[in-house]
Amino acid sequence: MQPTQQPIYFDNNATTRVAPEVLDAMLPFLHEQWGNPSSIYGFGRQLAKPIELAREKVAALINAEPREIIFTSGGTESINSALQSALDTNPGKRHLVTTAVEHSATLKFCARLKHKNFEITFLPVTAGGQLDLQLLERAIRPDTAIVSVMSANNETGVLSPIEEIAAICRGKDVLFHTDAVQAPGKVEIDVKQSGVDFLSLSAHKLYAPKGIGMLYVKRGTKYQPYVIGGGQEQGQRGGTENVAGIIGFGRAAELAQAHLHDTHTRIRALRDQLENGILKSIDGVNVNGSRDARLPNTSNLSFKGLEAEGILLSLDEQGICASSGSACTSGSLDPSHVLLAMGCDTARARASIRFSLGIYNTEAEVDFVLQQLPVIIAKLRSQLKSEKTYRSKATA
Ligand code: PLP
Repeated sequence: MQPTQQPIYFDNNATTRVAPEVLDAMLPFLHEQWGNPSSIYGFGRQLAKPIELAREKVAALINAEPREIIFTSGGTESINSALQSALDTNPGKRHLVTTAVEHSATLKFCARLKHKNFEITFLPVTAGGQLDLQLLERAIRPDTAIVSVMSANNETGVLSPIEEIAAICRGKDVLFHTDAVQAPGKVEIDVKQSGVDFLSLSAHKLYAPKGIGMLYVKRGTKYQPYVIGGGQEQGQRGGTENVAGIIGFGRAAELAQAHLHDTHTRIRALRDQLENGILKSIDGVNVNGSRDARLPNTSNLSFKGLEAEGILLSLDEQGICASSGSACTSGSLDPSHVLLAMGCDTARARASIRFSLGIYNTEAEVDFVLQQLPVIIAKLRSQLKSEKTYRSKATA
């Protein structure tokens, strides 16, 4: 039977529902305290304190100092800002190191830099989606301004050894940024322990609204603002503060600490139940990415012979939201750059879908997917078989 809650949402790496606690914290800043924090009068100025409280909460989530946090419009802006700042504050250095499996916020920014005659090394990954640290070490040059490696891959959930990468970068005296957008509430983040110079987060991945994020800049690291305008954020990021968003982010950061335990126990168990159930009941399914060093909520699976699009549309008909990591261009899904970089062939990359669980998922929802998916796959495979028979008869 279909669970009552609609939709059955297994796409929490794409975005998350705003938690009721987060919405409650935000509402007064939309209804009542809606002033501009930069105003001279008390109605605006009174917002400085709640913003600083939120900054403390976000800082606590990653074990940073509040003054090391710059609020931004989200993960993309934070990533762009960190990379650009590293180049602006190191004018003699024209080389960056990143990986082939980063989010497009990094990849497309690097592609633009390439057009401006910067040199970029895109490091390959193993079949399990992992980075070879020796390759990374060898890729760093005297003119490398920054290394940027994601903490957790959004498509496969594969984790990077951030502490080890930071140590390599420190040893080579090069800045290190990590895109940690997929990490909070799923794995522990401790900037003091890991020693990263820059770290990007986005609030809409942790049950807060879209359009708010933050960039951590380690104290003492030179920083050149990317978005310039007013003197907000101590002159580090121009633009009137998204006050309600910042407050929501602060509340979500508090909740994320509490979610960590649930994600590592209940959510991990649900993910494993889903993944093992699919592997047991459907033939020709493979897990993409290392199953060991992986986010506890993510499962990326390929279904031999099929196209992700057909599976996702059939799941959608049953009210189930999942996704492929691929972009949709001209009505068909491109194969995922992440899976291709892991050595999957185009057919397997096109046949892959991602389930990403969150705190609101239930066992009844997992059971429903396990009931529906084998039927969907069998139907799609039999359609494919009849089409092939028809085509071979037509050409005979
Ligand atoms: N980096 C990763 C790993 C992501 O998953 C995302 C969002 O999908 C981003 C960056 C971009 O974040 P935002 O949507 O806040 O710009």
